[in-house]
Amino acid sequence: ANSSFVHQIADDDIPVGAICQDPLNDTSRAMHAPHDLFGARTNSLGFDLDRAPHLARVQAAKVPAVTTVDTSASEARAALDRAHGAFGSWNEAGFETRSQILLAAADLLESHTAEAMQLLADEGGRVLADGLSEVREAVDFLRYYAMQAATMGAVKVLPGPTGEDNHYWVEGKGVFLAIAPWNFPLAIFLGQVSAALVSGNTVLAKPAEATPRTGLWAVGLLHQAGVPHDVLQCLPGEGPVIGDALLGDSRIAGVAFTGSTATAKRINIQLAQRDGPIATLIAETGGINAMVVDSSALPEQVTRDVIAGAFQSAGQRCSALRVLCLQEDIADAQIEMLTGAMQELRIGQASDPATDVGPMIDAKAAGGIRQYLSAIDANGAQRLAETPLGVFGDDPRYVAPQMWRLADNAMPDREVFGPVLHIVTYQSNQLQATIERINDLGFALTAGIHTRSDLRQAQFARSIHAGNVYVNRNQIGAVVGSQPFGGHGLSGTGPKAGGPLYLTRFIQERTQSTDT
Ligand code: NAP
Repeated sequence: ANSSFVHQIADDDIPVGAICQDPLNDTSRAMHAPHDLFGARTNSLGFDLDRAPHLARVQAAKVPAVTTVDTSASEARAALDRAHGAFGSWNEAGFETRSQILLAAADLLESHTAEAMQLLADEGGRVLADGLSEVREAVDFLRYYAMQAATMGAVKVLPGPTGEDNHYWVEGKGVFLAIAPWNFPLAIFLGQVSAALVSGNTVLAKPAEATPRTGLWAVGLLHQAGVPHDVLQCLPGEGPVIGDALLGDSRIAGVAFTGSTATAKRINIQLAQRDGPIATLIAETGGINAMVVDSSALPEQVTRDVIAGAFQSAGQRCSALRVLCLQEDIADAQIEMLTGAMQELRIGQASDPATDVGPMIDAKAAGGIRQYLSAIDANGAQRLAETPLGVFGDDPRYVAPQMWRLADNAMPDREVFGPVLHIVTYQSNQLQATIERINDLGFALTAGIHTRSDLRQAQFARSIHAGNVYVNRNQIGAVVGSQPFGGHGLSGTGPKAGGPLYLTRFIQERTQSTDT
């Protein structure tokens, strides 16, 4: 996601690399960088390197040293004992206090932007442009939820007849388990954790197995900002081990999960089958996201937005464009233009600022995509274009950005979590039928349309099943507070992250009626 709601209204400076020993008493803010670390972004997915005055500072930053050990089942249960014990005092600390701690954490994180970018590149393969956006999104989550929570502690007086006082207030639910994916190991992780914390819950935070160091580092920042250690504990390790150890325990009040639909369903079953209270489950899951382009669209603009949507972050975004539905009349010309643009993408190391497309998270994930491609190839699909991998062709973690047309103009039958774009074509009188084909996939995360027809924009927005609809732009990079993010159907439960209702799932409502 790009910056940002909060950046518009907060301090315009980003202190990069300042040493904040005590963030609540920070006097070390001498070094201020302008708002945009690299200056303006330019063509394709990269930065304009000539306008990168702060790049040297980012490159000089060290990857924070973090050691990680897998959490065992018994350690996870002991952590739950501590989190359960810590709930009462944290809940009573009040929304305002917790909100202040989140704001301190936001400042602290912002002051370590460069180190965070290095860590994201080193552990998660996030190219620097993505790393910068991700740090900003994480800062935005902290500030956005802090601002929302600041006023939530007030006890409201509700109407009633004479002789009756009615009061309403909200509080935390108990212990939340936050389970994050590897593809936004800082922003999604901190978004879930901070929402749960500020609402009054204690939190067990499980980063993905591929990105434990980022999770541990982020939890360290929150501890430094004032969150007590028993209130927030990080549990790196294997998902099923930690899930099986904790999900059956009735002291887990809720789970905030982001990841695949299959894992969300498994967690849902485990929570439903346990003894004890009904747990809250917030699940944000995958999508087979489509964009429709009609003959009135501007081809250059479509090209820019398709390239970004399908290939930024090497397609490892839940919001990424997976199926491009082109009106027959313009399909050949549009494919030709996309093919040309794909030759311009620069494949490279995550830490190289010139890189547009970095590696997959690991060789196993890349291998899974190659297997999928072999299977569709054997089934008569046609590869329309591919970005040359160059020297990275020998590295098993790299998959070339590519564009395919499946046999019989079919839709893909699964979410392919990488730089693979599918092309589908439709006749000019088949717009509604195409929308229905997309809806039949069952997901409802992001969707886009490029058209200059107001009527078609309205028809699309009305009938497409998608939590986030984008018109005449790309469909990635939701901004906290401006574009609350999340889907429905197979794509999740809501409420939307970075939206006005997100915190409501983490709180318990209370009323008291007194006969006076
Ligand atoms: P995943 O395999 O479902 O894993 C997500 C998290 O769940 C990881 O921390 C994983 O731990 C954990 N996990 C796995 N099995 C578990 C179990 N039995 N009990 C408890 N936790 C368990 O998904 P992923 O491959 O990391 O992420 C990619 C998916 O996330 C894609 O489908 C993408 O679309 C989706 N996503 C959605 C959003 C959104 O906002 N809607 C955002 C980002 C990503 P381990 O890593 O240890 O297995």
